[in-house]
Amino acid sequence: MFRVDISTAVFLYMTLSLLVIFLLWIFFEKKSILPKFIREKADVWECSICTHTYVDSTHHEISRCPQCKSYNKRSSKERLI
Ligand SMILES: [Zn+2]
Repeated sequence: MFRVDISTAVFLYMTLSLLVIFLLWIFFEKKSILPKFIREKADVWECSICTHTYVDSTHHEISRCPQCKSYNKRSSKERLI
């Protein structure tokens, strides 16, 4: 067995512990795939009367503007976007 003094032993213990924690962190970070927050372009509406831009994901063809309360119809050109 080789001899080490106490400071070298503490240094090796701390370094190896931090290395193990770092490797576990990298391992679990790669496993977790975070969901990306992507707002669908089809949910974004722009009012044709007041040009207010709002999000309505519940309606697909006709939506009501929350600002001026007018109805907006989705045009076929916007749907392709
Ligand atoms: Zn409006």
